[in-house]
Amino acid sequence: MGEMYSIRDLSFMTAITITLLGTNGWYTSKTGYTTCVTIDTPDFFIILDAGDGFSKIPDLYESVKKPAFLFLSHLHLDHISGLHTLARCRFEEGLSIYGPPGIGILSGFIGFPYTIPLDELPYAATITELHEGRSNLPFPVTTAFLVHTQPVFGYRFDLGKTIAFCTDTGPCDGIRTLGSDASLLISECSYLPGQENPGWPHMNPEMAVKITGEAKAKQLALIHFAADLYTTVEQRLSIRDVGPEYKEVIIGMDDMSIRL
Ligand SMILES: [Zn+2]
Ligand SMILES: [Zn+2]
Repeated sequence: MGEMYSIRDLSFMTAITITLLGTNGWYTSKTGYTTCVTIDTPDFFIILDAGDGFSKIPDLYESVKKPAFLFLSHLHLDHISGLHTLARCRFEEGLSIYGPPGIGILSGFIGFPYTIPLDELPYAATITELHEGRSNLPFPVTTAFLVHTQPVFGYRFDLGKTIAFCTDTGPCDGIRTLGSDASLLISECSYLPGQENPGWPHMNPEMAVKITGEAKAKQLALIHFAADLYTTVEQRLSIRDVGPEYKEVIIGMDDMSIRL
């Protein structure tokens, strides 16, 4: 008779599931909700940004029975508007919210007169500012400042597989550092092919593919398509026509899942 394993013992073999709940930048439209991504691991439930896509979580997960972590890139509304639905969620092991310096201001926003206060949620919730560099939370998290109109953090999570999340930025060393040899780099793609605006830094598909190569990340997923520029799903898919190297790129769509 072979060795027996409990489901718990097998957890190290279980795939990580990344779900793109919101793939629009700036505002929600028929192409998608604003930015939110979940990383479901055997031990942790990790949420990246809380745009309108965050509001889908309680419909997908009636209750979350593992510790939940929310990492915010910055405070632009397309990344925090979903916090308005925190009270619908059931994070039974609590929710720890992290973000760049200044994120503490959220404790005023999640409260009167905007929405239900943190301490009245049906689970424990905390807000903590992270510093740049590596933090040893229950799993290693590395942050770096990216390039935007306000302080914005990119993240790197070491979860057996390495996942980097870099949104609301132009090309910068922060992405190269966080995405270095990553299993998956989730990058923003606000601009259309060939489009750029140094006064308002964002990525276009060419920049995202180039920097993925420089970082030697194994896979690239694009999200945060500016709602006013990418007005149809077909427009997103036409990124594949830019060149043969774009065939491997995951073009994010709302509710798409990626298994690592
Ligand atoms: Zn944004
Ligand atoms: Zn922004």
